[in-house]
Amino acid sequence: MVIHLLGTGGADGVPALYSESRVSKYAREHGGKDVRSRASALVDGVIKLDLGPDSWSQVVRERLDAREWCAVAYTHSDADHFAVEELQYVLYPFNDYEMAGFTIFGNNLISEAIRSRYPDWPFEIVTTKSFCQSSCGDYVLTPIKARHGSPDEDTHNIIIQQGGRTLLYATDTGIWDEPTWAFLMDHRLDCLVLECTEGFVLTPYNGHLDIEEFEQVIERLRKQGTVTDGTKIVTTHHSHNGDATHAELEARLNPLGVVVGYDGLKVEF
Ligand SMILES: [Zn+2]
Repeated sequence: MVIHLLGTGGADGVPALYSESRVSKYAREHGGKDVRSRASALVDGVIKLDLGPDSWSQVVRERLDAREWCAVAYTHSDADHFAVEELQYVLYPFNDYEMAGFTIFGNNLISEAIRSRYPDWPFEIVTTKSFCQSSCGDYVLTPIKARHGSPDEDTHNIIIQQGGRTLLYATDTGIWDEPTWAFLMDHRLDCLVLECTEGFVLTPYNGHLDIEEFEQVIERLRKQGTVTDGTKIVTTHHSHNGDATHAELEARLNPLGVVVGYDGLKVEF
């Protein structure tokens, strides 16, 4: 399997639109891996993870063809992951297709938001629930419960399995509650994409990971066998407010065997 990171920024991207933070200024000046669009990824060219406000520019930048997607799977309804209007361009009057070429997977809030925004449109929507499997072709998608956002939302991280390989995509996670840790105990990951939103700024906010919490999560996953020496670990969802440039993150995380994600990175596992 291959995961292609299309966006690796936090909610407001890097550089953030209105920001004077050190990291935003650095990214404006230097470009390259320090420029991070809103979080999204593509698995094997066919499973699109989240469809946020930067979707168009990501597809153009990476020379992708969205007609090849068989699934659009949403993690949760925050605006950096779920830009509902981006769905409209697949059908009439923008195209002549009778159906979108992909199945939409999203929690109940997302399913309801799409149905209420486009009540007459023939989207194929699968309403997802944490710890319940769905399939798309020979891919198995299993959302797990993240600890992020409103307690009323079933916010997901997503396990994707195919051909004996297992990926966990966890952009907005916080430190999981015990049922999620227990569920993961039965999984051995070949690749883990894990948020490090708050970087070097340690905050009391529990819905995202700072670098120390990131390291604690990896350590516990190793202890319980979910992460092994063979697991590829990649970061994503970096906020400019984390006060960490790409190079600074690499200096801290590369010695731990962690790859610092960036827009455009492809990881094969
Ligand atoms: Zn986010």
